[in-house]
Amino acid sequence: MDALDDGLDRLWTPHRMAYIKGDDQPRATYETPAGCPFCLAPEAPSETGLVVARGKVVYALLNRYPYNPGHLMICPYRHVADYPDLDGEETLELAEFTQAAMRVIRRVSGAHGFNLGMNQGAVAGAGIAAHLHQHVVPRWGGDTNFMPVIGVTKVLPQLLADTRDLLASAWAEA
Ligand SMILES: [Zn+2]
Repeated sequence: MDALDDGLDRLWTPHRMAYIKGDDQPRATYETPAGCPFCLAPEAPSETGLVVARGKVVYALLNRYPYNPGHLMICPYRHVADYPDLDGEETLELAEFTQAAMRVIRRVSGAHGFNLGMNQGAVAGAGIAAHLHQHVVPRWGGDTNFMPVIGVTKVLPQLLADTRDLLASAWAEA
């Protein structure tokens, strides 16, 4: 644990209420890449797209509706839904980015554990089923106890921006 802990060690969930209430809620189906946030994110500046790292065929971005601070997703640039449809290069780099994400999050936040995985298909819980994304969710002992957090002193976009900067810097150094 070091001074950087404070960058990620609080759970802020009020923004999930906005998500649940439907503000800016992703549509269940993105039929075309034109409306797909995972196709659009890497085209935006990293600060606004919340992109943490860019690889050759995949990239990492911060989840705007995180389950925990530092919740990242690894996506192929290519608009592809089904994991078996990834080609060899995408499969390899997605795995490497998952490993890098764990190392980076551990370094900046001292995460105790992780949930990794993909929801395949809307029936399995994928919010944006048309473009696959590997979740990397850091966990801390007792983190569910933080859920009723009060006293968030910054507005959420700033929290997300700070978190992105922290992770992107650590990723670049790794
Ligand atoms: Zn897409």
